[in-house]
Amino acid sequence: VIEIGTPEHAVVTTCAYCGVGCSFQAEMRGEEVVRMVPWKDGKANRGHSCVKGRFAWGYATHKDRILNPMIREKTSDPWREVSWEEALAYTAKEFRRIQHQYGRTAVGGITSSRCTNEETYLVQKLVRAGFRNNNVDTCARVCHSPTGYGLGKAFGTSAGTQDFDSVEHTDVVIVIGANPTDGHPVFASRLKKRLRQGAKLVVIDPRRTDLVKSPHIKAAHHLALKPGTNVAVLTALAHAIVDEAIFDESFIRERCDWSEFEDWASFVSEERHSPEATESYTGVPAGELRAAARLFATGGNGAIYYGLGVTEHSQGSTAVMALANLAMATGNIGRPGVGVNPLRGQNNVQGSCDMGSFPHELPGYRHISGGETREIFEKLWGVELDNEPGLRIPNMLDAAVDGTFRGIYIQGEDILQSDPDTKHVAAGLDAMECVVVHDLFLNETANYAHVFLPGSTFLEKDGTFTNAERRINRVRKVMTPKNGYADWEVTLKLAQALGLDWNYSHPSEIMAEIAATTPSFGKVTYEYLDKMGSVQWPCNEAHPEGSPIMHVDGFVRGKGKFIRTEYVATDEKTGPRFPLLLTTGRILSQYNVGAQTRRTANVAWHEEDLLEIHPHDAEQRGIVEGDLVRLASRSGETSLRAKITDRVSPGVVYTTFHHPDTQANVVTTDYTDWATNCPEYKVTAVQVSPANGP
Ligand code: SF4
Repeated sequence: VIEIGTPEHAVVTTCAYCGVGCSFQAEMRGEEVVRMVPWKDGKANRGHSCVKGRFAWGYATHKDRILNPMIREKTSDPWREVSWEEALAYTAKEFRRIQHQYGRTAVGGITSSRCTNEETYLVQKLVRAGFRNNNVDTCARVCHSPTGYGLGKAFGTSAGTQDFDSVEHTDVVIVIGANPTDGHPVFASRLKKRLRQGAKLVVIDPRRTDLVKSPHIKAAHHLALKPGTNVAVLTALAHAIVDEAIFDESFIRERCDWSEFEDWASFVSEERHSPEATESYTGVPAGELRAAARLFATGGNGAIYYGLGVTEHSQGSTAVMALANLAMATGNIGRPGVGVNPLRGQNNVQGSCDMGSFPHELPGYRHISGGETREIFEKLWGVELDNEPGLRIPNMLDAAVDGTFRGIYIQGEDILQSDPDTKHVAAGLDAMECVVVHDLFLNETANYAHVFLPGSTFLEKDGTFTNAERRINRVRKVMTPKNGYADWEVTLKLAQALGLDWNYSHPSEIMAEIAATTPSFGKVTYEYLDKMGSVQWPCNEAHPEGSPIMHVDGFVRGKGKFIRTEYVATDEKTGPRFPLLLTTGRILSQYNVGAQTRRTANVAWHEEDLLEIHPHDAEQRGIVEGDLVRLASRSGETSLRAKITDRVSPGVVYTTFHHPDTQANVVTTDYTDWATNCPEYKVTAVQVSPANGP
């Protein structure tokens, strides 16, 4: 029996884990959270929740939190606790020294998809107006940056096209590269409900997830493709649709450019793209693929939901465009029950992208080279902005190794543990002269830091998160920041230490600035959010109540654009030394590298990460269930226990990356998406052998 106290008051706020964005009532006794109760009026969750939002908030008061700023001149020195004033003055002095010595572009910043829109907006503003360059990037770089590129090219804006309610009107669903049961549980429940009502399901995934077959759910088709062949499979689906003339001609003529469609159709019709021609290297039987194409094109409202199994590839952006092609070819855009929907991993991936975190874009996805857009910000911020895109995270690390990038401010992101090719990340960080980590815990990146600025949790701040359906939800402060300042206040004080004339007294004033500069947020204020509960952008004069569904009468870019999607095999090849392909995912109770969930009650549900291996591959290697095995790739090696299962196909192994000991990114490669540099986490050639073997 767990004794909980009697709550004295309750505050409605938003879960800080996944992109579903569930609303909760934090039931409080003074400044102590008694429990988190899913809020029945929350529009994203309607009173439902998962074990992360419900139980995994104890990290806010965990003893490991660092509450005082710390400095050390050299990373070999011990940390020295200092006042906030000293830490911020030291940081500002170091950044200015580096810029004086190495040039204006020798410093940059990284925003966090865990922080609020307001905090993200301030970090990109600090880099642009304070550092006077565009070296700002976001941790979305390593997850959904291909969504930004692909949907931007095809439709004109980077956002999921639907609200979650839309799934209740769908007849056929494609889930590709996503495992919502574990990654987006509350959305998964709504999807499963619709499937139990009779909607049909196509799962495209190398692994047999719960959606493929579980009590009361059975996918009509599971296309268990070889990791790395998404684009070939999606183009083969398009081939089958064009080949059998089951595309939606009237939609295409009305909403897209017919001659572009004809060009695309002749491309996908080439025999080399056919299901029969691609079967040998995708592993998907041609008959099964054609049946799935027929079902999606002719089965009524067709919706696509996808995750990092689409984006985290060397052709991540191409695969996103291939999904857009499929939706347009079948007329599945612009009404309930259809659409192309990225399932965002972190709570505010959508928001961090919306807020101008990319080195080429100002808030609202407007390219930095656009003079009119720059002028809006230049007038308001009182500075002249650089019109050249800045460095992405991997380019910052390359430049650090080359000696031209020397200082970085990292808010809420453990790049050493999260980013691929750990050795290269470490080399880049090690080469810098001022690494500032602004976070809750002394994470792996902090081993390379010179300044540690304590971060605050979602319970200690006001602000907004934007979920995967573009819903702007309020985050409300329920306790005083244990470290003294909410994250937005720290960035504000750092800007002031750098000599900038910033004066915000509350995040609502930052939102007012966002609304004044970003047309899709034109009508968003805290008062309006309180009144409406939440709104989905665009929310402005043209869409005063927000926009649950996008591209209803026309695409943001005008005509939807069909784009040729040529399959190019990844450079990561299997061979005699590394004959298996590793892919990765998550479990329900844990979140990313476990920094938060492993410091909560949820740790009880996760002892270690396991390596799933097919019985055939295990037997060949003399591996039995529970054996400690060595997982090696061209990049590095780690060890973990084997779980023998036919959830994975022969030739494929799978693991999660929640436990700090696993260090899955020691083995991942440095291959990245051709358009966005998103890492290719989902395909690594590996060998598995008994840990105590030769
Ligand atoms: Fe909802 Fe996601 Fe939080 Fe679970 S982790 S409660 S699904 S927002």
